[in-house]
Amino acid sequence: MHWRTIQKDSFRNIEKLADFLELDAEKRDQILSRPKFSLYLPRRLAEKIEKNNLDDPLLHQFIPLKEELTILPNEEQDPVEDSSFTLSPKLLKKYEGRALLLTSRACAMHCRYCFRQNFSYEPTPGFTEELKLIEQDISIKEIILSGGDPLTLSDKNLQSLIHGLSLISHLQIIRFHTRLPIGIPERITPEFLRAVESPKQRVMILHVNHPKELDSDVISALKTMQREGITLLNQSVLLSGVNDELNTLKELSFKLVTAGVTPYYLHQLDPVQGTSQFKVSDEKGHALLQSMRESLPGYAVPQFVQEIPHRKCKTALHPE
Ligand SMILES: *Cc1c(COP(=O)(O)O)cnc(C)c1O
Ligand code: SF4
Repeated sequence: MHWRTIQKDSFRNIEKLADFLELDAEKRDQILSRPKFSLYLPRRLAEKIEKNNLDDPLLHQFIPLKEELTILPNEEQDPVEDSSFTLSPKLLKKYEGRALLLTSRACAMHCRYCFRQNFSYEPTPGFTEELKLIEQDISIKEIILSGGDPLTLSDKNLQSLIHGLSLISHLQIIRFHTRLPIGIPERITPEFLRAVESPKQRVMILHVNHPKELDSDVISALKTMQREGITLLNQSVLLSGVNDELNTLKELSFKLVTAGVTPYYLHQLDPVQGTSQFKVSDEKGHALLQSMRESLPGYAVPQFVQEIPHRKCKTALHPE
């Protein structure tokens, strides 16, 4: 089956998802029926969710709950202030040597804690303008394809973008930020691999938060990309009720490294409006990381970071 067909089978309707998950009336009552950021959940992930359990760590990442209506005074629409670093509406340059290209508005899933959920940019098609800007700025050594999710682009559009980037001689690394393979591993086809071929070093940063997101189909798609020479790393977000437990984080890291994926960042939550239900304190985060360091190989322990606007890099968090 074509991955687009699989994508179309994702849950977008809350009633249908509640029926599928056999949620009882009391649980349905906790759901926010008309969220601003719509429900979007690939069937593969929905199938892994325990029935009639709102606390399931997968469901928790995707289900809009009434708790989202609680907005704390420190929460913002654009907490990372991305909008103040634009070279063009689709190209951000925040950090030295790296520029980030918003390739698409679309994702294959909607994560409730996402800091991009309030972005309303309507990208113009094509990347001619951005390719020109990257070409003119020889300080850019790495381009980060983000979004949304770059893997939602068609193979044809990806191919033309990667081809354009491959021609820029000062550019050395092409990086993808994607969560799509955990929802639709069928996306990783031979045609996709051909579309992203490039003489540049390719790095893919996945976004996996819980070990249940990695199954044998997902892992096999990841292995295919590694065989093509793509370096795989993972970023997670520390989320209350999802992965704020030592055993979960340890299992996630171990599963990642055995699949050939190096844990890169564990992000402290960005203060996006309506996400306080996911907040984990810095102190708890530090304690979890310390316990991970005591029981895993050093390369299996991610860096605990937060995005603080107007700093030169993401901020590594350390105990006081
Ligand atoms: C996170 C981010 C990067 C990449 O940062 P790394 O620390 O290299 O992973 C680049 N640009 C923007 C705008 C970012 O938010
Ligand atoms: S950008 Fe990433 S975290 Fe945000 S909704 Fe899309 S897949 Fe989820």
